[in-house]
Amino acid sequence: MDLTDATRTVHTPVPEEGASAPLGTPLHLDHTFAFPSAEAMAGAFEDPDGPYLYGRYSNPTVRALEGALADLEHGTAATAYASGMGAVNAVLTALVGAGDHIIAQRALYGGTHALLADLERRWGVQVDRVSGTDPDEVRALLRPTTRLLYLETIANPTTRVSDVPALAAVAREAGAVTAVDNTFASPLLFRPLDHGADISLHSTSKYLSGHGDAVGGAAVLADAALHRRVWEHGLELGACASPFNAWLTLRGLKTLALRMPRHSSTALELARRLAGHPAVRSVAHPDLPDHPDRALAARLLASGGGVLSFDLHGGRAAGAAFTEALGTARLAPSLGDVKTLAMAPASTSHHRLAPGELEAAGITEGTVRIAVGLEDPGDLWKDVEQALGAV
Ligand SMILES: *Cc1c(COP(=O)(O)O)cnc(C)c1O
Repeated sequence: MDLTDATRTVHTPVPEEGASAPLGTPLHLDHTFAFPSAEAMAGAFEDPDGPYLYGRYSNPTVRALEGALADLEHGTAATAYASGMGAVNAVLTALVGAGDHIIAQRALYGGTHALLADLERRWGVQVDRVSGTDPDEVRALLRPTTRLLYLETIANPTTRVSDVPALAAVAREAGAVTAVDNTFASPLLFRPLDHGADISLHSTSKYLSGHGDAVGGAAVLADAALHRRVWEHGLELGACASPFNAWLTLRGLKTLALRMPRHSSTALELARRLAGHPAVRSVAHPDLPDHPDRALAARLLASGGGVLSFDLHGGRAAGAAFTEALGTARLAPSLGDVKTLAMAPASTSHHRLAPGELEAAGITEGTVRIAVGLEDPGDLWKDVEQALGAV
């Protein structure tokens, strides 16, 4: 039966357990499994879908999460990791070697940006950076050694939307793999694999687990052979998912279809109100009519997501003062939580960057990012308004 996301997120597959069945996925903590024969055990070393062997290879609770995520992202197979950065690292280092070429979006999650810089400096990997919206820019940079096009669905903190179908089509013609970090959208708002990407990456620490209590990551792949390559490399990397975090993530997933529309609608409401405030220079959210990628967002995304950013007239000091004055919303990193989290990058995560470097990352001195939670929108606006008064 063709079920919708709201039903599929609630009814993720539960392993069979005899005549009656548990409604939820059991939490299996065991990391070592016993075999009836040497031959059966030998096979398990080679097969990502084979019998359970050892926790770094797989585990029943982790595999249940992988199955649920593959299903939601319309993929063939998925691997869960200890963190989002574990997933990013597994994919990049499985598919790219010394001398290979990557085309990556310019505005990327900080950890990914640092990893790419490391691959360039220490491994001799060549990286070219693109806007994420212009296929001709990608075409002009292709080389025979181009292995990977790396994008994010919605960029942080600019909320720029990348044109995954157009760019992935260019990469595919050249035989390069397209990987998309889909953390900001979740499969409820966008499915990269339906638009020509080969890999969808997640920090499940964010919307998928949804409650700020389980660090994790995942890579969902369209192709079984590519999945096997990434899985095998992951055994060496060792960033395997914890069964308990996989269990928490499966539990969080059950309300994803309720949470995502609410995150998006509250973010848009705050963005609209911020746009009319005199302390605010500009506001970015993909669902605002004046967003530079509004048409693309309307075509590709179910809604614009729970993250908005805005620029305060008062610069760095104003950004810090605003976030420190918040009461209901909290000054904190991360996103995808039930609670609203806000930060000003120039005074926190990016405080070491020179003005030119800030600008290259799409950040101004007065940029504030709000990762909207599930609180009442009116209560949130009251809090934001009083904090703007403190600027
Ligand atoms: C948080 C985040 C990551 C890293 O995930 P961790 O689970 O913190 O390792 C990667 N990409 C994006 C877009 C993120 O927001």
